[in-house]
Amino acid sequence: MNSNEIDLNISGEAKAMLREVKTFSMEVLRPAGIELDRLHAPEEVIARNSVLWEVFRKFRAMDLHLLQMPKSVGGLAEELDPMTTLCLSEQLGYADVGLTVSMAVAGMPFRYAALFPAPELQQLARDYAADQEGGMIGCWAITEPDHGSDWSLGGADPTCGPSVTAVLKGDVYVINGEKAAWVSNGTIATHAMLHVGLEPDKGMDGQGLAIIPLDLPGISRGKPLDKMGQRSLNQGAIVFQDVCIPKAYMAVPFPAMMKVAAGQGLANVNGGMAVIFAGLAKAAFDEAYQYARQRIQGGVPILEHKNIKLKLFEMFTQVEAARANARRMFLYNAANPMAPAVAHAVAAKCLSTETATRVASDAMQIFGGNGLARDYPIEKMFRDARAGMIEDGVNETLALKAMEFL
Ligand SMILES: Cc1cc2nc3c(=O)[nH]c(=O)nc-3n(C[C@H](O)[C@H](O)[C@H](O)COP(=O)(O)OP(=O)(O)OC[C@H]3O[C@@H](n4cnc5c(N)ncnc54)[C@H](O)[C@@H]3O)c2cc1C
Repeated sequence: MNSNEIDLNISGEAKAMLREVKTFSMEVLRPAGIELDRLHAPEEVIARNSVLWEVFRKFRAMDLHLLQMPKSVGGLAEELDPMTTLCLSEQLGYADVGLTVSMAVAGMPFRYAALFPAPELQQLARDYAADQEGGMIGCWAITEPDHGSDWSLGGADPTCGPSVTAVLKGDVYVINGEKAAWVSNGTIATHAMLHVGLEPDKGMDGQGLAIIPLDLPGISRGKPLDKMGQRSLNQGAIVFQDVCIPKAYMAVPFPAMMKVAAGQGLANVNGGMAVIFAGLAKAAFDEAYQYARQRIQGGVPILEHKNIKLKLFEMFTQVEAARANARRMFLYNAANPMAPAVAHAVAAKCLSTETATRVASDAMQIFGGNGLARDYPIEKMFRDARAGMIEDGVNETLALKAMEFL
């Protein structure tokens, strides 16, 4: 039985869509990810002639950016059953996690904008849904040079509050401070979902959330980040100097509201990561399995050697456990958006990213020397997977936070 299909319960129409996305992901996303990964300088990833822009255009042309946008603003969220959304996301992660994260984060400010009644935010969400060219690109700006895990853990210590602050002056908020070089899409984003300190005496618990365009006076960017894994994902700092935003852009102006929604936010982000990285884990296993069938040593394909066979079965077991766990959590949370299983989502993110890293490492061993060579896909998968254990929160600090939701 094909392990891809074991719990697949979707309509014929959804299966056709999945086939289309599979073609796109393996013929466009995977090769683009490899091409971008091999570029020497991160500036080249976002150069005018970069294949990155073709990926954005094709992703939008296929309406994949609408998957999580509500119908009220022109999206498809209500039309797809959660199993279909999940399979599409897993397939994209299978092809290239860096680009999948880039595409997903690109929609984040607009997806959240759609949740708020302010006409300015509703319009922003509608404009994004209608954007077929990839001109509107979002980012999620939370990490700061001095505050990484502090954001994951929260707390009311006034000496440990956000460095980026927003102060209400008349009809506008004035924003100052710097977001770290880790912001995904940081140097190419046109809009940000921006976490700011509103009440300094409450530390991290004094935060609010703004959704803003990034072409306002006083905003500048850092240079694209050079890093080990997910090199296809652009990242960079964003600096705010006396940036004035209208009140309507402060989507969550009260820290108490943020606290109530914190669990939903954690469940949402970690849930998506869990599914994407389960896809990467499966990709690494598939590469190792195919290689073991072809590579001859000792006069037979190495798959015939018991040590390789047992290792592959162990990898298969881990991959299927991570996929099944991610699916169970994702489907539950899709059915319970107002009271999602937060600890389960974090557990699934940790399990999927750790499984992807372990399986990619084992795959490297099965590839022998070729596992280290850039001509083969495994070393990139390993680097991409490893980044996942830090991405959107270090797994250990996420786990500490998740314990509050058990
Ligand atoms: C690929 C990738 C994509 C990312 N995308 C984004 C993005 O889109 N937007 C964004 O804002 N950020 C993004 N990040 C940043 C990411 O969220 C942070 O790197 C992460 O939260 C950790 O922060 P830090 O790097 O400052 O590590 P630190 O917080 O300095 O942590 C260093 C170590 O100390 C430990 N530690 C820290 N504090 C505590 C504590 N109180 N108790 C116990 N242990 C502790 C941590 O577990 C970790 O092992 C991304 C990161 C990566 C790798």
